[in-house]
Amino acid sequence: MSRKFDVVVIGGGPAGYVAAIRAAQHGLDTACVDAWLNRDGTPAFGGTCLNAGCIPSKALLESSELYHRAQREFANHGIGVGELALDLAQMQARKTRITRELSGGISALFKANKVTGLHGRGQLLPDNKVRYTPLEGEAELLEAEHVILASGSTPVELDIAPFDGERIVDSWGALEFDRVPERLGVIGGGVIGLELGSVWSRLGAKVTILEAMDRFLFMADAQIAREAQRQFKQQGLDIRLGATVQAVEQSGEALRLRYEDEQGDHELAVDKVVVAVGRRPCTEGLLDPLAGVDVDERGFIAVDQECRTTALNVWAIGDCVRGPMLAHKGSEEGIMVADLIAGEYAEVNYGVIPSIIYTTPEIAWVGKTEEELQAAGVAYKVGTFNFAASGRAKAMDHAAGLVKMLADAASDEILGVHICGPLAGELIGEAVVAMEFQASAEDLQRTIHGHPTLTEAIHEAALSADQRAIHAINR
Ligand code: FAD
Ligand code: NAD
Repeated sequence: MSRKFDVVVIGGGPAGYVAAIRAAQHGLDTACVDAWLNRDGTPAFGGTCLNAGCIPSKALLESSELYHRAQREFANHGIGVGELALDLAQMQARKTRITRELSGGISALFKANKVTGLHGRGQLLPDNKVRYTPLEGEAELLEAEHVILASGSTPVELDIAPFDGERIVDSWGALEFDRVPERLGVIGGGVIGLELGSVWSRLGAKVTILEAMDRFLFMADAQIAREAQRQFKQQGLDIRLGATVQAVEQSGEALRLRYEDEQGDHELAVDKVVVAVGRRPCTEGLLDPLAGVDVDERGFIAVDQECRTTALNVWAIGDCVRGPMLAHKGSEEGIMVADLIAGEYAEVNYGVIPSIIYTTPEIAWVGKTEEELQAAGVAYKVGTFNFAASGRAKAMDHAAGLVKMLADAASDEILGVHICGPLAGELIGEAVVAMEFQASAEDLQRTIHGHPTLTEAIHEAALSADQRAIHAINR
């Protein structure tokens, strides 16, 4: 016996569950098979993002930021709070409640949209069949017109620092600490290293981040990365660049990190180590070798621009395929694929995917960096505006950082927007919409921005691209 569906999605993260809901909205009979198990053994839709990534990290970033502000900034506003106390158990319980509520929300959306949600593992077999192995009981066969693979990614493990779940942990482990470590070593100064390093630093840990590259945040615009690095340093985040970690050894109660940089060999004693050196696509047990789905040399499922795999009517989306490992990128691919299956026109504009790092300062960008434009030989103009001159940022006591806009020198089209400063992740939305509509810098110059808001910094950056800034000296 087998069950028949129009669409079977394997993976219930932000790529898979969104694809399933959209397919069902098209009237397609859809199932979503997901293997996620939380630490207490309970199944949950939402994948890495909801259960061990985007959402729990943002919950802890918010809580730790409030703690930090109460400690360091409230006095400047004339607010005294007496002796500050940290209840980490409560902070963690709040985080867990948020993730559980959101995961329950996906189950409710599945029900409302008539998606069949199945907890357990899926394996793609030849001819668009899926072997579904439930958490308990016998495996069964699902037959589908279309299969969407959305199996996500897992953390990269280092041979010199294998995860032990206790003292050497991945990002999930670092979201679950029940005590603030006195000394925390973080290997990898990318997005996870900075976000989780910030959480534990704000809560009192002495955090040292060891980054292999010589340049800080090499994927970001260099000017923005320099400004962020300056602010992190002021906050006491110890970021060491060009550091190659050679060994992580037990040393009594502590761990000893041995690493090398330009200056020579060093040792660092820490209580816990977070390894955050990137993630790799998760395809173990996903593909029967005869299913006809090719995987590239880096382990990603090979797809074309529209997320078609090498097997007919098998699609793949999200972290398990090329492109940035971001929840919103996976979700948009899910919507595109469901629309294409339904026979509609659909595409993902890969040039306009926002990146956001939720630290303080927040760092956000969309489009090309100045270095990318230089390398491509594009003639461009630059507009910048410092939050130091923003009334709203000053009122918030967060008046450091800048907005930088890059526009084509000839056509005036906006090619990139880069922000380091307060609520950059929210502000970047305006730039994303503008670029999606191929706006020019002049379009934003002539758009009315509320006063006093942080968005005025985007307005001024657009004006500055033509030396017309009002609240800054034009150069
Ligand atoms: P996943 O979310 O990984 O979901 C894949 C699902 O498929 C999982 O539930 C998995 O169990 C299941 N699965 C795998 N194999 C099978 C199988 N054979 N059968 C059935 N099910 C299977 N991105 C952002 O955009 N913003 C952020 O703020 C952000 N913060 C992050 C913070 C952290 C700490 C981490 C680790 C990641 C963060 N990310 C963030 C990245 C984001 O989590 C991923 O890009 C996103 O989850 C990818 O979605 P996905 O659906 O492709 O995969
Ligand atoms: P990353 O690619 O952002 O950063 C990894 C860093 O580790 C890089 O700077 C790299 O140079 C460094 N590195 C690699 N090997 C090293 C080594 N042996 N020693 C020292 N440094 C080393 O990866 P990540 O921070 O692990 O995050 C994984 C993915 O999750 C990313 O693709 C990211 O997009 C996504 N994510 C996104 C968000 C967000 O959108 N806010 C938050 C967290 C994670």
